[in-house]
Amino acid sequence: MSSSPKDKRWVVPFSDIDYGPEEKSAVADVLDSKWLTMGPKTAEFEQKFATMLGAGHAVATSSGTTALHLAILAMGAGPGDEVIVPSLTFVASANCIAYCGATPVFADITGTDDLNVSPLDIEAKISARTVGIVVVHYGGFSVDMRSVMDIAARHKLWVVEDCAHAPGVKTDLGYLGTIGDVGCFSFFSNKNLVTGEGGMLVTGKDSIAQKTRMLRSHGMTTLSWDRAKGHAYTYDVIDIGYNYRPTEIEASLGLVQLDKLAAGTAHRTKLAGFYREKLRDARGIEVPFSAYRGDAGHHILPIMLSAEIDRPAFIEYLQSKGIQVSIHYPPIHLFSAYQRKFGNIELPVTEDAAGRVVTLPMFTGMTFDQVELVAQVVSEA
Ligand SMILES: *Cc1c(COP(=O)(O)O)cnc(C)c1O
Repeated sequence: MSSSPKDKRWVVPFSDIDYGPEEKSAVADVLDSKWLTMGPKTAEFEQKFATMLGAGHAVATSSGTTALHLAILAMGAGPGDEVIVPSLTFVASANCIAYCGATPVFADITGTDDLNVSPLDIEAKISARTVGIVVVHYGGFSVDMRSVMDIAARHKLWVVEDCAHAPGVKTDLGYLGTIGDVGCFSFFSNKNLVTGEGGMLVTGKDSIAQKTRMLRSHGMTTLSWDRAKGHAYTYDVIDIGYNYRPTEIEASLGLVQLDKLAAGTAHRTKLAGFYREKLRDARGIEVPFSAYRGDAGHHILPIMLSAEIDRPAFIEYLQSKGIQVSIHYPPIHLFSAYQRKFGNIELPVTEDAAGRVVTLPMFTGMTFDQVELVAQVVSEA
């Protein structure tokens, strides 16, 4: 979805990558070292990421999706088990459950202002087969984790946080990703911290860290880095694992991007505030999360169109003015593969919101002038 800055069609692209000379030289250092696969840079990135969040362990992966898969595997979900997950999210949030043979059970969102999963609907969807909950901090706005953790404790369920939109977001319960059993992050090209492909899993539990590290690398008991350094000569395979390892190139980019993250989020927060101010008087347009008062990742900038507005025509107008937009998200429960495998279900609030949401440009390198231009075109539309 992220467009190249060379794509002249867009006056304001939907997303853009904040890379400079530091990223170039970090990659050059890795190439010079001639060690490209998971090794010392990855270990350093994991250490710094864990420290930033105050998490016990961080395990770097090849993507956010593979972090989620390892998380659900470590929780032990399998055939016959149900895992509750929102539908208004990227498909990977539910695919990770299906990969394990478990059944995703979709919960509705709270409303068209709070687009996060509703704790009330989570509780309503719990059955005798429910083993866990996957929450997604939509746009980097925290889910009501106090309620979710209370429900999880009462029903003895585990909680995995999909923090793809929320790296480094602090709440009064701690950083997002450290409140549930496992937190999963994505460093895909359009995210707040970018390494191209890449992800991270954080956990406070030693056993989960150990299990996910083992499954990340074929279920082997030693790493190629250790064998190359002469620390180990052979290995056992103690589980049917995967190759979900990141590269040193990704880790070196991650280290530079990690240093820029706090400033980037602070800028996104200001951009979001400016958007809100500029769109206050736009007719038929609401900016969700109006009641939210905590820190947020501001990964995307959703707006909700009133029912009278023709969304395709609205989007076409913005595009004709060079403003690239998107929709977050087409709900998962309406995808044909999900309907075929898990049947037809209804989520009225999700379906209403998904039919009226539009996501406007938001990226770390965006300027206030660009926000002003987008807001002006939105108001005209
Ligand atoms: C991007 C994203 C993922 C998947 O991350 P990848 O790194 O692309 O595999 C999962 N969940 C959400 C909510 C995302 O936005």
